[in-house]
Amino acid sequence: MLGATGSIGLSTLDILSRHNQRYQVFALTGHKNAQLMAKLVAQHQPEVVVMADADTIRAVSDLVGPSTISFLHGPHALQQVASAAEVDIVMAAIVGAAGLEPTLAAVKSSKKVLLANKEALVTAGQLFMDAVKDHKALLLPVDSEHNAIFQCLPPQFDFANPSQGIEKILLTASGGPFRTWTLEQLKGATPAQACAHPNWDMGQKISVDSASLMNKGLELIEACWLFGVGADKVEVVVHPQSIIHSMVRYNDGSILAQMGQPDMRTPIANALAWPERIDSGVAPLDFTQLSHLNFEAPDEVRFVNLRLARESFSEGHSAPVILNAANEIAVAAFLRGDIGFLDIGVLNETLLNTMQPTNIDSIEAVVAVDAQARIAAERWVGQRRGVAS
Ligand code: NAD
Ligand code: MG
Repeated sequence: MLGATGSIGLSTLDILSRHNQRYQVFALTGHKNAQLMAKLVAQHQPEVVVMADADTIRAVSDLVGPSTISFLHGPHALQQVASAAEVDIVMAAIVGAAGLEPTLAAVKSSKKVLLANKEALVTAGQLFMDAVKDHKALLLPVDSEHNAIFQCLPPQFDFANPSQGIEKILLTASGGPFRTWTLEQLKGATPAQACAHPNWDMGQKISVDSASLMNKGLELIEACWLFGVGADKVEVVVHPQSIIHSMVRYNDGSILAQMGQPDMRTPIANALAWPERIDSGVAPLDFTQLSHLNFEAPDEVRFVNLRLARESFSEGHSAPVILNAANEIAVAAFLRGDIGFLDIGVLNETLLNTMQPTNIDSIEAVVAVDAQARIAAERWVGQRRGVAS
């Protein structure tokens, strides 16, 4: 469980606790939250625990008390547990590009990989998918939209095969908490408002990404890599109720949709048990309680990130790496109160326009561009603060 202390991590552990004859936790990884990790260790009895650094893991070990658990720390330990021989299934639920190398370690060890960490695919798409193929890993999407699409496609899907008649992926978006806000209102949006998602309870970074539509941009890129299609095959449809989690349109006019409560335990359980199905603890959807399902087109004038993501995917090479890194820095700066909500899009576009695109032929190249873009983005944030104060 990479990212066990996060929103996806906790939802996954909830499912595991309902099926403790079927699954056993080998390793739990977190970052800085020692208290929460100590609690999870008591509940799930892993063999290995990984935290960010020596101080944090010592704090966890002290809280747990005498045990036979291996307490490890640092990025290398994440890769070590993700590729351990004892492990069959890896939940990849670290947030951000920090999840790339551990997730890739799981792929290269031919695990069944449950992918929540969309940033891994956004930054290393081709290299990541090549590794899945070369190492015969089983990659299953956990992101609710991608899990929905996966469920609506034929088992051996091939977009180029006319007899399958797959025309389009309809990627649904809730529109986030600011769907109806004007540009003027968006200027003054606060972190608390951005994190108050109307339908989903998620980590802070993805909540801000949902509010800025960057999440949908990252998901567009994620869908292109996962399902092997160009961006022209993916249409974003805003659906504020988040009941339909995405759809696939076929050439005979059929549209298959996957529906359910907006609760991540459904796609997590689907990926975890696939091709079987298990109870996720999610209450069934009661259609008599739904008054309506609405749909509209996304507004790329107020929400520039969706356009930027599409453009960066078309440009290829290092562009999505730059966009993702810029966005991670921008979101963190927004959450600290250093920049405004609309500055997120401005910073993302500025970096895409000013950083020279380079060829990406290795994970080292991804990591190097990611680091450069973070430095440039931090500099931009510093200048913005200077201007504001
Ligand atoms: P979160 O912030 O709640 O949790 C993130 C986890 O990653 C935590 O366990 C944290 O300790 C760990 N972590 C953070 N920084 C790290 C670092 N540098 N090194 C190692 N570990 C680190 O995030 P979340 O909402 O659970 O999202 C996790 C991933 O799943 C993201 O990529 C997100 O886009 C994706 N996702 C989340 C949801 C959701 O509903 N929360 C839905 C779809 C996809
Ligand atoms: Mg999603």
